Amino acid sequence: MPAQSMDELVALCKRRGFIFPASDIYGGLQGVYDYGPLGVELKNNLKAAWWRAIVYQRDDVEGLDSAILTNRQVLHYSGHEDTFADPLVDCRACKSRWRADHLDGRCPRCGSDDLTEPRPFNLMFRTAIGPVDDGSAFAYLRPETAQSIFTNFKHVLDSTSRRPPFGIAQIGKAFRNEITPRNFIFRVREFEQMELEFFVEPGTDEDWHETWVQARLDWWQDQGVNPNNLQLYHVPGDELAHYSKATVDIMYSFPHGVEELEGIANRTDFDLGSHTRGQPELSIDAEVMPNADSTARLATPDQASGKWTVPYVIEPSAGVDRGVLALLNEAYRVEELDNGRRRTVLGLKPHLAPIKAAVIPLKRNHEGIVAKARDIKQSLQALGLGRVLYEHTGNIGKGYRRHDEVGTPFCVTVDFQTIEEDDTVTVRDRDTMDQCRIAVSDLPAYLSERL
Ligand code: ATP
Repeated sequence: MPAQSMDELVALCKRRGFIFPASDIYGGLQGVYDYGPLGVELKNNLKAAWWRAIVYQRDDVEGLDSAILTNRQVLHYSGHEDTFADPLVDCRACKSRWRADHLDGRCPRCGSDDLTEPRPFNLMFRTAIGPVDDGSAFAYLRPETAQSIFTNFKHVLDSTSRRPPFGIAQIGKAFRNEITPRNFIFRVREFEQMELEFFVEPGTDEDWHETWVQARLDWWQDQGVNPNNLQLYHVPGDELAHYSKATVDIMYSFPHGVEELEGIANRTDFDLGSHTRGQPELSIDAEVMPNADSTARLATPDQASGKWTVPYVIEPSAGVDRGVLALLNEAYRVEELDNGRRRTVLGLKPHLAPIKAAVIPLKRNHEGIVAKARDIKQSLQALGLGRVLYEHTGNIGKGYRRHDEVGTPFCVTVDFQTIEEDDTVTVRDRDTMDQCRIAVSDLPAYLSERL
């Protein structure tokens, strides 16, 4: 049985330490969450899987980790100052505020249809820079990681000698002052993105767009998402962002409905064309704001003709938090056992599991068993497979239940037989609940193979 509702996932996340409401002891902060001891592991594992697939396993992508605080000019020329807005309406009856495109004409809180006309509300957060807060010196908290990839384009090009087709990848925080954050970590005001800007020759962009849509769809399935819960949405022309020639969204069946997990856009030469100096000398296809402030030419020269071209950009942009939510939802199941009991299992793929193996001493106050268990934990930890936990509760049944619920693929139990007889341990498999005895010396190979 999969999760029946978002509430079940929210409850598990709090109970077991995946995700907590931020600033909770002071009443929280709407649309902001903290990742707990297991959440940070799951999130890091998801980001590492993306980085491996996008940067390490390919030979045409470089990484970047740029600043969150962003010069106003960047978001002026990118078009965000003018257009990064959602339509805001107020309910005159109960004074609540809503996003007009999420309403069906009535206030969701009180049901009144006495709503104001929609007006644009810019989603960017700004913050004062320097000691004088008179409104003149401010920076934006970036609303996406993409813009700093474009502003670093020339630095990366000059320092790596890359030429299109090649990409720059970045994982990091983004901030949007969402009018109505909701659905747990689905729509929040502070979140993380995994973004790739892949630069290609104009004319090859449509093929590359298709290639990336397929690659990203395959990747989500590799993370354990059931293909039946994924679908592609070809964004129709009148819904496209101003910079986009074509956008395909990867939609996932979240507990609250089918919504965007990742967007893959063909952004043409809009971004580099917007931020480049010398726009008139470059034949830029996109309609861009005249830019007299940029100091860098964001184009690549053709070796033979010497002509400069502004590359097109294909952008797969995924939300880390939405990814975590999708993976938790996919993995969560409640099983009816033969003995009439139930168990909750997080069937996460091993590479995503927050804890790879738990080492449990049969008795937590038996010196020999405890010493042996600690020893095994250290030797397994040294394999570099991820977190191995020494489980000190000393109750095997409880330990198994807890580790099923947080997705630990293997529990290793150390008992009297281990220390007194044959140096073997019990290894229990999360999914099958099968237990087998394995020699301690064989454990590293056994776990390495399966993790
Ligand atoms: P939506 O239409 O749902 O507001 P968007 O189209 O504005 O999303 P993009 O600008 O394409 O989103 O951002 C790329 C990705 O960043 C999204 O696919 C999503 O996974 C993630 N993302 C965007 N906004 C949020 C948010 N408020 N909270 C969590 N993740 C977000």
